[in-house]
Amino acid sequence: MTATADYRTLAERAEKELAEATAAEALSWTVEHFGDDFIVASNMQDAVLIDLATQVKPDLNVLFLETGYHFAETIGTRDAVQTVYPGVRIVNAQAEQSVAEQDAEYGKNLFERDPNQCCFLRKVVPLRSTLSQYSAWVTGVRRVDAPTRANTPIVTWDERNGLVKINPIAAWSDDQFNGYIRDHGILENPLVSAGYLSIGCEPCTAKVEPGQDPRSGRWAGQSKTECGLHG
Ligand code: SF4
Repeated sequence: MTATADYRTLAERAEKELAEATAAEALSWTVEHFGDDFIVASNMQDAVLIDLATQVKPDLNVLFLETGYHFAETIGTRDAVQTVYPGVRIVNAQAEQSVAEQDAEYGKNLFERDPNQCCFLRKVVPLRSTLSQYSAWVTGVRRVDAPTRANTPIVTWDERNGLVKINPIAAWSDDQFNGYIRDHGILENPLVSAGYLSIGCEPCTAKVEPGQDPRSGRWAGQSKTECGLHG
């Protein structure tokens, strides 16, 4: 197995060489270098990334952070993904504690008082634990998602989690993204058409009015804007 230092060097070289790569090129590069040793993250808002990735590798691993706080529609979308892409293996990463156990230790509805700690326990820790089993991960982060994501590279070294991170659709505009969903009939969480444009856990996701920043519906009314997964 290649040492971490070698993967870091590989990622740093690819950050330059694949700076203008298409999604298909970035995904082919991922399969070529990592084989089965990577995982594709999805929040089950849509299956764009999964659709693109399965064209290169139909039997890939898909990471879903099963926080225990998802909308029923999001769980339904996850299950529909399994039906539409039968080759994928969905890895449901869960927190060490159930919601009931967390309530017992920290008090009910920790997300109201300390969303950073809740996200840490239910997203960041399970993510790290799952990623520690792989050498690379693939995400659907796009530069237009938020100002904090404006410089997202196609390939980079993920210092925080210690593996290679590939963002194949980082450069995609909203038009390109929505056009792909429309033209290819891609599975989409039904909450999107109901006005939820950035979907996370149910208690921390609100509808967004037309013309508003899609991510303004996440932790609405609080200063928090990111889960701590991509920072
Ligand atoms: Fe908790 Fe909300 Fe973070 Fe989900 S998004 S883990 S409910 S704080």
